[in-house]
Amino acid sequence: MVFMRQHLIDPEVCIRCNTCEENCPIEGAIEHNDDNYVVNAALCEYCMNCIAPCPTGAINNWRNVRQPYSLEQQYLWDELPASIEWADTEGTTEALEEEANQILDVAHQGSGVVPAPATAARPQINLWSQGSPAKAIVAGNYRITEAGTESDVRHIILDFGSQSFPVLEGQSLGVIPPGVDDNGKPHAVRLYSISSPRDGERPNYNNLSLTVKRIAYGEHDETKKGLASNYMCDLQKGDEVEITGPFGSTFLMPNDAAAHIVMLCTGTGVAPFRAMTERRRRMGIVGSGKTMLFFGARSASELPYFGPLQKLSGELLDQELVYSRVGAGTKEYVQDRMLKRASDLAELLEDEDSHFFVCGLKGMETGVENSFKQICLEHNMDWDKIRTTLLAEGRYHIETY
Ligand SMILES: Cc1cc2nc3c(=O)[nH]c(=O)nc-3n(C[C@H](O)[C@H](O)[C@H](O)COP(=O)(O)OP(=O)(O)OC[C@H]3O[C@@H](n4cnc5c(N)ncnc54)[C@H](O)[C@@H]3O)c2cc1C
Ligand code: SF4
Ligand code: SF4
Repeated sequence: MVFMRQHLIDPEVCIRCNTCEENCPIEGAIEHNDDNYVVNAALCEYCMNCIAPCPTGAINNWRNVRQPYSLEQQYLWDELPASIEWADTEGTTEALEEEANQILDVAHQGSGVVPAPATAARPQINLWSQGSPAKAIVAGNYRITEAGTESDVRHIILDFGSQSFPVLEGQSLGVIPPGVDDNGKPHAVRLYSISSPRDGERPNYNNLSLTVKRIAYGEHDETKKGLASNYMCDLQKGDEVEITGPFGSTFLMPNDAAAHIVMLCTGTGVAPFRAMTERRRRMGIVGSGKTMLFFGARSASELPYFGPLQKLSGELLDQELVYSRVGAGTKEYVQDRMLKRASDLAELLEDEDSHFFVCGLKGMETGVENSFKQICLEHNMDWDKIRTTLLAEGRYHIETY
């Protein structure tokens, strides 16, 4: 008879993004079919490499079992089976329970799972699922990049009426696109960062905003346009949208007014940073914490929220807007501008009150990290050591997609 803590994926929360499978070092420990992502109990070594990168937390599920659930069983699930208490498990001793918990604790400790900032508020997660979604009403849908440019990015306001959907700056939610896929199954959920602060897009109304880019036909994959992004960008005021979440328990804003917040982003990666900046704007400038934004886009006309950003005072937000496609010879990326602010960033890297957040297109973290490395070299600092400390203290967060 086997007693174990089995590692499982919650099919109701999983958005089938494949990130866990990409990050698992054990071949075959995570696999999927058209229905579900599943963990093979015979292969999983509890290394925890898959936990931090999972954007929804669906992978951080554990069940006490006598016999592990098979792959076949997991593929059939629409939801996780209920948790079994050790006390209910015939033949289980306290010693066995203790042993199983210890294995998991040790694995979690060594996992490199990045904690939330120490002063962040406690988030609520997974209140609404695909089987039981919240139904939000569209209160507004505005284009926030210049008309006629290639990049159609929308500021979409969703009203939750009397349904509870509490969020913190840095969290995201899931959108269920209507209809079914080629196999007659509901479409997989897509995640969108929340771009309004915790008290709502309109303060003290039960609403929030999203910043959605239309993935246009031919832009990335010539054969198909983005399903959820086009659905979202075409929404009209009064339409109903099915929502899951909220998600995210680590990429969160520090509450401490003395915390320095350095935000590095491209495109719609600005969404969580609009939420954090707006939170600080509404609170007033009450602490010594700096708020600094490095924001890259192709041009000013394709930079979401360009107009509103111009209206913010330098005292509230120290902003560096960077363009990669403006005339010949002026191509610049976020990582280039970081080098121009090297001495400010070096000072912040040494300050225990500093928090660094990276959000945007997959791959941007490489450029950002190279610049941090170079800045540290120039200032006699050890980036690898600083990075390890920042991660361990929940002061360095990366969310790319
Ligand atoms: C944690 C998290 C937060 C996110 N936050 C936001 C957000 O705030 N705003 C936002 O707009 N998106 C955000 N996304 C991305 C979003 O979830 C969708 O992946 C995106 O909108 C595309 O979905 P789709 O259904 O339109 O495209 P799909 O139908 O899934 O894909 C259609 C085609 O588009 C391609 N494609 C997918 N994503 C991109 C991309 N980013 N650029 C170019 N081509 C692409 C695919 O490869 C495919 O060929 C986030 C993702 C994650 C994981
Ligand atoms: S814990 Fe490690 S071995 Fe197990 S599924 Fe996750 S990444 Fe793979
Ligand atoms: S949501 Fe999490 S569990 Fe699901 S496929 Fe993505 S990384 Fe894996």
